[in-house]
Amino acid sequence: MLTKKINMKLTTSNIHLGLKEVDPAFGSVVTPIYPTSTFIFPSAEEGAKRFAGQSKGMIYSRLANPTVALLEKRLASLEQGEQALVTASGMAAITLTLFHLLKKGDEIVAHSVLYGGTFALLSKILPRYGIGVKLVDFKKEEKLKKALSPKTKVLFFESPTNPLLEIIEIKKICQLAKQRRIITVFDNTFAPPPLQYPLKLGVDLVVHSLTKYINGHSDALGGAVIGPTKIIQPMHHQTHIFFGAVLSPFAAYLILRGLATLEARILTQSTSALKIAQFLAKHPKVKKVYYPGLPSFPQHQLAKKQMNQFGGVLSFEVKGGYQAGKKLVNSVKLIHLAVSLGAVESLIEHPSSMTHSEMTEEEKAQSQINNSLIRLSVGLEDTQDLMADLNQALQKC
Ligand SMILES: *Cc1c(COP(=O)(O)O)cnc(C)c1O
Repeated sequence: MLTKKINMKLTTSNIHLGLKEVDPAFGSVVTPIYPTSTFIFPSAEEGAKRFAGQSKGMIYSRLANPTVALLEKRLASLEQGEQALVTASGMAAITLTLFHLLKKGDEIVAHSVLYGGTFALLSKILPRYGIGVKLVDFKKEEKLKKALSPKTKVLFFESPTNPLLEIIEIKKICQLAKQRRIITVFDNTFAPPPLQYPLKLGVDLVVHSLTKYINGHSDALGGAVIGPTKIIQPMHHQTHIFFGAVLSPFAAYLILRGLATLEARILTQSTSALKIAQFLAKHPKVKKVYYPGLPSFPQHQLAKKQMNQFGGVLSFEVKGGYQAGKKLVNSVKLIHLAVSLGAVESLIEHPSSMTHSEMTEEEKAQSQINNSLIRLSVGLEDTQDLMADLNQALQKC
């Protein structure tokens, strides 16, 4: 059951919004794929008008493509933002956003626990271009305030975080950022609508890896950035089309198909993940479970305040440390040992040696990513089957 009122139009718009404009000719029920790289101009005058922005006609698929444009329209509606841009991957969306917003001499302050790729971008790549990077614990308001300076242009964070599912109070961070005229960028990959609506809580820009829940079928990569037209439009015109990490029309088609079932999938996965978290919390071989939906989770009340449901990802520590954890991920039969998340198949992985292996031992210790931590993305299989698989694997640890 949802703990907060959701926009009733969400699922409907995920399925129907904007279709007629993409295919006025035949009335196809399914979004047509336009695999063309370029578009014919009916005349020199019309071609000039399109380049001058005086006509909406298409020019070239790096600039815009009808299949891709429909996905952008639906994602803007999904997050209740004005406009969306889609990119070739989630990392492309994050890179595009940060390179567009930041220049030499600026600073970005980010929460200390981040997606592994984002962590690498911030710690290794941005400093090469003279951009200052500070990682601080956003849960500690005083520390965050201290890290801010007149050079701070962007705050970047995720919630729930990966892989410990920590909750950052979105509203509070955004209020602080607004006072100082700092742009907030929030990665909502772990809890897309209807689980939470960061733009409504005050975030300026939401980024997504569409590869995860939004596509949901492990068969396409994609990314998106969503927010007000006054930021998204220049990001498209000045940066995106020249960076060139655009999404292919084929991938856009797959992601549109995935998006149609997003709400049904993610609510089922959230229900299943809660049951599995409860089962693991009681299991004698399990030391600790991290899942915001558990009443015993330290930030459960905060999670309830800003989320409608708690998502399909949970982490846990097996008694016996890394050796036992390794045994567990080698012993599951139904659940796949693979990184990524948010798909119909359940996936299990070991963050310390896999998704977060870019971090030094010291950085891992700071972020509390210990060697015995296991991350599980709950798919759409029967919950009893998943628990039976985990149980037989835990018996071997
Ligand atoms: C996977 C992921 C990304 C990166 O997305 P790709 O599509 O793999 O480039 C970014 N942020 C989070 C939270 C993710 O889970």
